[in-house]
Parts: sequence; C-alpha cells; structure tokens
Amino acid sequence: MMGRIRPKEECVGCGYCCIQKPCSFCKIMYPEHVADGSICPLLEWNGERYICRLVMMPGKDGNFYRYMLWVGKGCRNYLNPWRKDVRPRRGIDDV
Ligand code: SF4
Ligand code: SF4
Repeated sequence: MMGRIRPKEECVGCGYCCIQKPCSFCKIMYPEHVADGSICPLLEWNGERYICRLVMMPGKDGNFYRYMLWVGKGCRNYLNPWRKDVRPRRGIDDV
C-alpha cells in the first residue's frame, strides 16, 4: 500500500540541515570548517532564524544558489526536533 504524500513543510530557519550536513558549496568553499565540524561561515543567525548568505544574494548569482539549494521547496528535514525550538546553536551536538 502506498503511503500518503506529506504536505510541504515550510522552512522555519532552524539551521538543522546546514549544521548537520553542510551543502556541497560549503564543502568546496570551507573544507576546513567541514573537516573540523564547525558551522558553515555562510550560515547567519539574523536574530530570529538562520539564513544562508548565498541564497540572500541578489540577481543571477542569488538565483543560481536559490535554484541549486531548492529554496522555497519546503523543509528537507521536517521531522527534526530543532524546528520546534528555533534558536542559535553552537554545533551539531547543541540539542
Ligand atoms: S531543517 Fe528545515 S526548517 Fe530547518 S533550516 Fe533546514 S530546511 Fe529550514
Ligand atoms: S549556510 Fe548555505 S552554504 Fe552553508 S551549508 Fe547552508 S546552504 Fe550551504
């Protein structure tokens, strides 16, 4: 029996996806951060939520990153517990 398709969950900016598993752009630009488990330098806490500085870029460059990082397509980790507790995190173990 097929499972029901879950409705799209909006991104709430909890940072879980980027902190738990940095994207390919982060791996290419900041391999040393990825290697030592540091948070991606492009992940910014704006006082209310996390944002990626790449996808905030205007124009064609921003469009490229928004497309490649699936911005607007919904949360990739909608069952993660951080979604219910959006706040700055120190790292992957900051539960
Ligand atoms: S885990 Fe989901 S809600 Fe959290 S930052 Fe990533 S996409 Fe957004
Ligand atoms: S903040 Fe941006 S560049 Fe860094 S891991 Fe997240 S999506 Fe990738």
